[in-house]
Amino acid sequence: MNDSTLSDLPSMDPGWVWLCGAGPGDPGLLTLHALNALRQADVIIYDALVDERILDWARPEAERIYAGKRGGKPSAVQRDISLRLVELARAGKRVLRLKGGDPFVFGRGGEEAQTLVQHDVPIRIIPGITAGIGGLAYAGVPVTHRDVNQSVTFVTGHDQSGQTPSALDWAAIAKGSQVIVVYMGMKHIARIAAQLIAGGRTPDDPVAVVTTATMQTQSVLETTLARAADDIAAAHLSPPAVICIGRAVLMRQALDWQSMLHGAPPRNTDPLDRGRPAESA
Ligand code: SAH
Repeated sequence: MNDSTLSDLPSMDPGWVWLCGAGPGDPGLLTLHALNALRQADVIIYDALVDERILDWARPEAERIYAGKRGGKPSAVQRDISLRLVELARAGKRVLRLKGGDPFVFGRGGEEAQTLVQHDVPIRIIPGITAGIGGLAYAGVPVTHRDVNQSVTFVTGHDQSGQTPSALDWAAIAKGSQVIVVYMGMKHIARIAAQLIAGGRTPDDPVAVVTTATMQTQSVLETTLARAADDIAAAHLSPPAVICIGRAVLMRQALDWQSMLHGAPPRNTDPLDRGRPAESA
């Protein structure tokens, strides 16, 4: 890529904050707008899940501020981050707020943007690839597949208090959501699975647990709703992970393209037909 690739993209003015998604991990999943922002920013405030290699695309003289918070720390921390952004913008910096995945998907991007606007700081929003879609794609799981689902439900596994979200009607989700993608679900997976089963979901429903999706360390555990919690514990998996529940997970049997990168031959099976060879066209 030469510089002209970026030259038509917007320039970042002093005093602005660009709130930007960095994607789920693999630097190649960054958008051109994000790269363009990295090339201009004076200050970059980034989260725990943003890969070092992405930060290396920043200007060498740019200040980098780590604002990592993992696993439901007090919201005062969030308030501090937002006010820090206001301060930097008022000091005339070009501020890049870089967040994992997409800033508006379980990323508190809306809160930060709102604080900035309330303080008269102008903003630009740059969406990113969210872990619940891009991360599953790297596991060979299409988040929608015509023969499986016409809807997807994204849920968070814990609320602000750190508990399973009590505002969610798990029985309704169990019945009405063909495919469920859980963010931040590792801690409460046993409860979530139990509530879904109690709500009428089949215990055999296929589940994929994708940890550090799109990164070198990505791992994929295939299990079922009833076994998920035990299998996660037995495999000693830890966050970050996206958990996909539903028959879309079966597609991985045919679409696990990462294994092909490591030399596995393509598998001509029809996963929705429980692994029988597909009829040739
Ligand atoms: N805004 C982010 C989500 C932030 S919430 C996005 O759009 O992706 C943090 C949760 O996102 C993690 O607990 C995990 O569930 C998920 N997540 C983010 N990056 C991930 C990754 N590389 N692999 C697996 N899960 C990830």
